[in-house]
Amino acid sequence: MDENIKSYKCPCCGSQLVFDAASGNLSCNSCKNVFSAETMQQLGEADASALQSKYDWENYTPRDFGEAESRDFSGYACPSCGAEVIGDNNMAATICPYCGNTQIVKKQFEGALRPDLIIPFKITKQQAIEHFEAACKKAPLLPKEFKNSKKIDEMTGIYVPFWLFDCRCRANMQFSAERVSRWSDSRYDYTKTDFYRIIRNGTIDFEKIPVDGSVKADDAYMDALEPFDYTAAVDFDTSYISGFLADRYDVSSKDSEPRANERVKRSTEKAFADTVLGYSIVNPISSAVSFSNGKIRYGLLPVWMMNIKYNGAVYKYAINGQTGKTVGKYPICKKKRALWFFGVFAASFAVCFAVAKLFGLL
Ligand SMILES: [Zn+2]
Ligand SMILES: [Zn+2]
Repeated sequence: MDENIKSYKCPCCGSQLVFDAASGNLSCNSCKNVFSAETMQQLGEADASALQSKYDWENYTPRDFGEAESRDFSGYACPSCGAEVIGDNNMAATICPYCGNTQIVKKQFEGALRPDLIIPFKITKQQAIEHFEAACKKAPLLPKEFKNSKKIDEMTGIYVPFWLFDCRCRANMQFSAERVSRWSDSRYDYTKTDFYRIIRNGTIDFEKIPVDGSVKADDAYMDALEPFDYTAAVDFDTSYISGFLADRYDVSSKDSEPRANERVKRSTEKAFADTVLGYSIVNPISSAVSFSNGKIRYGLLPVWMMNIKYNGAVYKYAINGQTGKTVGKYPICKKKRALWFFGVFAASFAVCFAVAKLFGLL
């Protein structure tokens, strides 16, 4: 056997291709596709360009607050959970937004970095409370005492640090697909399956992909608070913080990159896959997503936070300070749950009884 004969696999179904000397084409006995030398070359080029995913972000250079700006702020530390936030000098005794502790200690303003962007609060504390109460109404089996809790007033507005990533993303994705058509005549039923190889090449621009920059702020909560309307983001100015707290990042932009990469990759793959329409079966074969010169900015997003202690547990709530979207887990009333189970049991028993009757068993 000649070692130099390269064996080709069918791009559509993966079977061995056979060379047809008469036409100069390669054909597949399995899916019956025929490939010209030119097509095989194009496929080879597409495979070669889909080498590896590559992510290249700029090195973010942090900026300090100006001296005059620093004078307006104090640091506030929570001895209970270790949170360190900033606020204006005149803030009255405040509540730790992360754990609900009321014994917050004022200290020297230091070490905070100046954000590039900020989305100002759009929802007042009163409106945030209304959003929370509306969410409580939808929570099933919520204990009555929980709703009447006075703690609802202890809602704190805090700007949460986020990293915002911009990039132009190049991607190459390949899919195998099948289209099945069926028809009949007077003698036979026919099934025809067409096999395809689909290649998608292109670029997508991403702007302000958020990754939260705080360890204390639970990632799942922060992701659930989205979306924020980033068109409302403005250049940072200290006046926006007045009356609110602001956290500072404790996850560096470098450490946030893997999450940004993951988001870019997932969003790109979804956008590309959404263009592959009209097939009975589609399977991704390969995906390469890469970008260079990604830009990074440091931003603050508005969040109302609240911690309610109930029955020995702390229930955390976060409310999007722009849209009012409310995120949190709700306690379940055991008494109500027992009644609910009983209700379901009674209902299914009634159904069984009805069925039994229908069949004349009773
Ligand atoms: Zn084939
Ligand atoms: Zn705390």
